[in-house]
Amino acid sequence: MTQETHDALARHLLRTDGQEDICLATYEVSTGARRITRVLHAVELPRDGERSVHGNATITGSYVLRVAAQAARAGRGLVLLHSHPRGVGWQRLSGLDFEAEQSYAGLTQQITGLPLVGMTLAGDESWSARIWSDATPVGVEAVRRVGTKLVVSWNDALRSLFESEEAQSRTVSAWGEERHRDITRMRILVVGVGSVGLDVVQRLAATGLVEIGVMDHDRIYEVNRDRMIGATRRDVRLRRRKVDVAARLARRAATARDFLVHSHHVNICTPEGRAAALDYDIIFSCVDRPWPRAVLNTLAYADLIPVIDGGIAIDTFDDGAMRSATRRSQTATPGRPCLACTGQIDMSEVALEMGGNLDNPGYIRDARRSPVSGRPNVAALCAAVSGSQLEHFVTLVAHPGGQGVPNALRFTLATHHLEHLPHNSQLYCTTETCTAMGDHRADLIRTDIPWARDQGAPISAGRRWAQNLVDRVVEKLLNV
Ligand SMILES: [Zn+2]
Ligand SMILES: [Zn+2]
Repeated sequence: MTQETHDALARHLLRTDGQEDICLATYEVSTGARRITRVLHAVELPRDGERSVHGNATITGSYVLRVAAQAARAGRGLVLLHSHPRGVGWQRLSGLDFEAEQSYAGLTQQITGLPLVGMTLAGDESWSARIWSDATPVGVEAVRRVGTKLVVSWNDALRSLFESEEAQSRTVSAWGEERHRDITRMRILVVGVGSVGLDVVQRLAATGLVEIGVMDHDRIYEVNRDRMIGATRRDVRLRRRKVDVAARLARRAATARDFLVHSHHVNICTPEGRAAALDYDIIFSCVDRPWPRAVLNTLAYADLIPVIDGGIAIDTFDDGAMRSATRRSQTATPGRPCLACTGQIDMSEVALEMGGNLDNPGYIRDARRSPVSGRPNVAALCAAVSGSQLEHFVTLVAHPGGQGVPNALRFTLATHHLEHLPHNSQLYCTTETCTAMGDHRADLIRTDIPWARDQGAPISAGRRWAQNLVDRVVEKLLNV
């Protein structure tokens, strides 16, 4: 749910008189490759006479029917929420809770075609939830609260606690054991593992994250080696997939005992790429093209997965000398303007890229545009981009000083000037109006992208597989 939704629910459910309260909400479905998320869409508070508060709060059948019918018309599901004012942490279902939710589960499923979701808000503002399937509550793994901060309530029974390692003691001392356990359980995806993404992945792994995903549809070429720190000449000779190099470097840097890295050799603009991305809690956008950025921008709002974006543009004089470099970093999340509203995405470029014209030399020349691929970049400046994105990450999950992520930041190298860009959301921003819409999000996906097809490796798939296996064995033997 968004922080805004949480605030509205907390105002209703956590009463000043200390009694329990109850209400309904609707949800949208967000379908990933391995995970299905129920996204709270809107709070539907009870009208006069639709609920009574007397120790154990109850609602009337007509209230349930009213909101269920409304949800069904929009293709949404129903959520029944109540509070445990004296509760702390993940709440178990009491006998009375069980009966109350079960009594509405079948009816709700019939009307909306979607299972009832039951949720409990504890007095310490932590959430717990279950999904009713065949009159039985099935536990969920976590409840996420998304705004300028990301706050996750974990179900320890389904996402086990990971004890911190000695190698992480300095990290733990920066934000405490409890926060460390919350952060390291998050699943984080890095989209684009070139210069910046490759650095981000390794630092996340060293921080102690247990599960990381890397996504890139590209392979390594000699021209990448001046920016991809850790990629070798051998990787280029074998034309390795960037995700395999990123996974190898992440495993080497990882401090978590059972570290898991998922390699997604797909384009984020395809159905497979998007479905894989929907399995994660936070996404780093380390892409350098407008269309992938636009796809990620929609997920940040429709599916409530914060997207931490960064990039650098280097300007040169006509004689080739450096004029300046501009670095930007920004978190797209409800409560902050999206990447299109801040000008980080030019939607006309997105349309060009979707039409296959962004890299068409004839078109670019006629339209007097500068090409997107092959822009200048310098390894020495990439670290500041990943550093700035990682600062957004730490702010998002550790909330230093109680603060959440800032508006977009922009640093100009020539003058060494850092600005907090004063952007506001545009009135009719199509991305932000789709907040909490889940699978009803704006669709920017294509099944086949001819100019992004895998060019293949100079060696056979079998030999490359064997080479990767040898690398894994050597890594294990040398314990690197
Ligand atoms: Zn209860
Ligand atoms: Zn916007």
